[in-house]
Amino acid sequence: MTGRPCPVDAGSSALAADFWETVAEARALHVQGCPKCSQAQFPPRLRCANCGSAVLEWWTAPSFGELVAVVVGAGEEARHRPARRFRALTPYATGLIRTEPWPLVRLPVVLLGPDVQGPDAHALGKVSVEIEDLGGVPTPIASRSPSP
Ligand SMILES: [Zn+2]
Repeated sequence: MTGRPCPVDAGSSALAADFWETVAEARALHVQGCPKCSQAQFPPRLRCANCGSAVLEWWTAPSFGELVAVVVGAGEEARHRPARRFRALTPYATGLIRTEPWPLVRLPVVLLGPDVQGPDAHALGKVSVEIEDLGGVPTPIASRSPSP
């Protein structure tokens, strides 16, 4: 697997910015892949967590996966203020998915609308993921619709 090089020499902030630029351009989530040992990791790091290599690439994640965790955010909570772009969307949920090529890697997603209401709000299982602009920020939105 090959992908766009990760700018690890520019530091953590530049790496995070490059991650979101890559997601926005490709309209897909990405993991950080290591060509030397073929391992994938997320969140992005300055070195491969497996072999220590500083030569890392962005690898495109599939547009579907399995939801393995859900946290529903609803209403106002003094200790937790949602990001401004989420405040008008309550209830919403954040979640983690795993995808087939990298079952040990977890990727963040957001769930909205009917997917976070009712008795199945915390249900796990197959989801599809699309990148949508939420408040001008590329955001991975997961839907519990059937996957391809
Ligand atoms: Zn490695």
